[in-house]
Amino acid sequence: MNLFGLSRSELEQEAVSRGLPAFRGRQIYRWMYARGVDDFDTMTDLSRELRATLTDTAAIVRPTITSRHVSSDGTIKFLLRLEDAREVETVYIPDGERHTFCLSTQVGCPLKCTFCFSGTIRFERNLTPGEILGQFLLARSALPEPPARSNVVFMGMGEPLLNAEGVLKALEVLTDEEGFAVSPRRITVSTAGLVEEIERFVEKAPAVGLAISLHATTDDVRSRLMPINQKHSLKALMAAAKNLPLPRRRRITFEYVLLGGENDTPADARRLARLLEGVKAKVNVIAYNPWPGSPHVGSTREATDRFLGVLLNAGLTASLRRSRGDDVLAACGQLANQVTQ
Ligand code: SAH
Repeated sequence: MNLFGLSRSELEQEAVSRGLPAFRGRQIYRWMYARGVDDFDTMTDLSRELRATLTDTAAIVRPTITSRHVSSDGTIKFLLRLEDAREVETVYIPDGERHTFCLSTQVGCPLKCTFCFSGTIRFERNLTPGEILGQFLLARSALPEPPARSNVVFMGMGEPLLNAEGVLKALEVLTDEEGFAVSPRRITVSTAGLVEEIERFVEKAPAVGLAISLHATTDDVRSRLMPINQKHSLKALMAAAKNLPLPRRRRITFEYVLLGGENDTPADARRLARLLEGVKAKVNVIAYNPWPGSPHVGSTREATDRFLGVLLNAGLTASLRRSRGDDVLAACGQLANQVTQ
């Protein structure tokens, strides 16, 4: 039985069901997550006998790192192998004092946004909570100096809200003081815009940051770029965004990748500003990261500046997300278990 991925209460229950006091579960929990231990013999506050029994009847199985690619900007892309030999990618992005871990939530992605490399590989399955937590633990421990404070973004492969159950369980351990102790304010979950799922998720995890991938300002363009828009229209999405019960001062991040000649005109920017009226929003304009065979081109420098200028003039908070790790296919939208030659 694999214990990795269980929450604190689940481990306590597991201990009790084995005829042990609940606090034994809690001890194992701390070893497993806070201290990153994966063999019972190291758990010196358990009796020798219990350690032996656990070794015989349970296991702590995490993904394994099969390769890593270091970008010239310091970004590291890890390829992780799962128990069933499937693979996912995890990215570490250093930025001065900021240390961000970008986690995957699915093997492949069923949404098939035209601009995203992850959509080109076959969707296989959701990741388990343990596989999500394992990415964070392994990437962090692989650094020469694990950062004292980490940011976590659910922006790797997959659509987090199609695996809400797995993500919510992972968040429980990620944010738990006795688990990984990451502040919810430093965590962002990014979604392509599944309306009911967003509403349900915010209710269950109100303290975690939410990002919505918008990328277009008309249903025509958005449905072409993001097939999911055929099911959840812009109108429905924006209405939901307006009414989300967000904590005070919390804003939704709207991601907008600029695609040359497709969604990057000043008229698009003005429509975007109008769409966001009445929404507690900030805009993250993203430079397009091309990948082998990608069907789009990025915006020119001028078009990008103009687009941002219109948003700022309209009084919006907007910034340009720099591309990180693109030389090793580690940037947004470049994760498809592929490496540059
Ligand atoms: N499925 C989720 C999270 C993964 S993608 C979502 O759609 O939000 C994280 C961000 O990178 C999303 O905003 C996504 O639209 C964006 N992205 C995808 N492909 C990209 C590319 N080629 N260049 C730049 N950003 C891209």
